[in-house]
Amino acid sequence: MNPTVLIVDDDPALLEALPEALRLRMSELTVETSDSAPDALAKIAVADYDAIVSDIKMPGMDGLALLDEIQKVRPETPTLLITGHGEHDLAVQALRRGAYDYIQKPIDREYFTVSLSRAIEKRRLDRQIELQRLELERHSHVLEHVADGVFVVDCDGVVQFWNLAAEQITGIALADAVGNPAGDLLGGWDDVSPSIPVAGAERPKRQLARMLPFEVNGRELWLSLCGVEVADATVYSFQDRTDERMLDKLKDDFVATASHELRTPLAAIYGAAKTLRRDDVLDDEGVERMMAMIASESERLARVVDDILVASHLDSGRLSFASAPVDVRALVADVVDSMQMHAENGVAIDVDAPPNGLPGVAIDPIKLRRVLLNLLENAIKYSPEGGPIVLRIASVENGRLRLAVHDEGLGIPHADQERIFDKFYRGDPQLARGVGGTGLGLYICRELVQRMGGEIELESEPGKGSTFTVELPVRAAAGAR
Ligand code: ADP
Repeated sequence: MNPTVLIVDDDPALLEALPEALRLRMSELTVETSDSAPDALAKIAVADYDAIVSDIKMPGMDGLALLDEIQKVRPETPTLLITGHGEHDLAVQALRRGAYDYIQKPIDREYFTVSLSRAIEKRRLDRQIELQRLELERHSHVLEHVADGVFVVDCDGVVQFWNLAAEQITGIALADAVGNPAGDLLGGWDDVSPSIPVAGAERPKRQLARMLPFEVNGRELWLSLCGVEVADATVYSFQDRTDERMLDKLKDDFVATASHELRTPLAAIYGAAKTLRRDDVLDDEGVERMMAMIASESERLARVVDDILVASHLDSGRLSFASAPVDVRALVADVVDSMQMHAENGVAIDVDAPPNGLPGVAIDPIKLRRVLLNLLENAIKYSPEGGPIVLRIASVENGRLRLAVHDEGLGIPHADQERIFDKFYRGDPQLARGVGGTGLGLYICRELVQRMGGEIELESEPGKGSTFTVELPVRAAAGAR
C-alpha cells in the first residue's frame, strides 16, 4: 500500500505548493491536507497516516498543541513541524515534545523530502517490528500452551524458558526452573543429555525422540525428548512416558511370574502322573493323594489361565454382563465351600450374614462369584499365620448390595494401597515371598465391580489385616431368599 501523509497548514498557498513538490519527488506518495488543527485531528482519528507534517504557527490550536494531541492518540506516527526562520527555541520545544524533525522556512524541498522519507521509513519499520513482536508473542503463546513440555537451555546449560506443560509434568515451577542449570532440575541431565537427539545445522532433519530416565524431586521420570539447536541455545520438547515405562516393566514381570505360575502346577501334575504310572511305589492312600494333587493343581492352572483370559477380555471390551435372580446367601456359601478346600494353611472362613432373610436380587452371578473368589483367595494367600477370614454380607438396601471380605493377615503397606488394583501390580515381593500370583486378581475385581456400576474399597493396616468392601447396584428379584 502507498504511504499516505497529512499536511496541516493554514496558508492555502503552502497547502497547494507542498503536496505538488512532494508528488514530483515521491511519486508513490498519497498526500492529504488540512487547513486547521481541529480538522487534522478529525482526520487523524479515523486514518493511520504514515507521517504528519504541520505548520507550527496556526491561529487557534497551533502546531505544538496539535503535536501534543497526536502524541496522545497516535504516538507511533512521526510528526514533522514547520518552523519560521530562526525560531530555534520553538524547534527545540517541538523536538522535546516528541516531534520527529523540524523543517525551517523557507523550506528546502530537498531536505524536506529526505526527512519525510526517513519518517515514513521509520513508521514502516516500526510496523514491521510490531508485526514480528506479535508473531513472536503468538509463537511463545503456542509454546507456552502446547501439551508437550518445552524448555530452552542456553550454551552454559542454564534454563531460559520453561512452559506450562514442563511445569505440570515435572512439578517444577517456572520460577524455580528459569535461571538454574538444567542439571540441577533434572537429575542425571549432565550424563544423559549428550544422547538426546538434537536437530541442528549439521543435522537439520527432525530427530526421533529418545526415552531417558531423570530424577525429579525424588521421583523417577521417563521422558521422551528431542531438541532443536537455535542460535546459542537448544530448545527441547518432551513427553512424559513414565506410566508406559512402568506398564512395560510390569508386563515383563508378568511374563516372568505367569510362566512361573503355569510351570509350578504343571511340574507338580507331571510329577504326580509319573509317580502314578509306577505301580510299585504307591499304596491306595498314596494314589488318592496324587489324584487329589492333580485335581487341585489342574484347578490352579485353570484359574491362572482364566485370569489371563478375563483380563484380556476386559481390555478388549469383549466381556458381556448378564442379570439373573440370585440367592446371595447360597452363592456366598458355595464360594466359601469351594475356597475352603484350597485353604491349605487351615484358615477358617466364616460367613456373617444378617439374621433375617435377604431380599432376592438380580445381578450377574458369574461375575459376582469371580470377585468373591479372587478376594477370598487373596485373603487366604496373604494370611500365612492362618488367621480368621470373614465374608460378610453387610446389607442389601436401597438397591445396593454390600459385601466385605476381611482377613487378619499381612495387611497392605500404605504406600501400596493405591496401586494394588493396577493391572499386573504385585505387592512387596518380600512379603509375598513364596506366594504365587499374577497381579491380575484385584485388577479383575475392580474392573468387574466398576463395570457392574459398583465400587470396591480397601481398608488395611500392615501387620493387622485387610478388609475389601464391595458395593454393587442390584435390582430386586422375586423368589431368591
Ligand atoms: P496377586 O496375583 O499378586 O495376588 P492381586 O491383584 O490379587 O495379585 O493382588 C495384588 C497385590 O495386592 C498382591 O500381590 C498383594 O501384595 C496385595 N494383596 C491383595 N490382597 C491382599 C490381602 N488380602 N492381604 C494382603 N495383601 C494383599
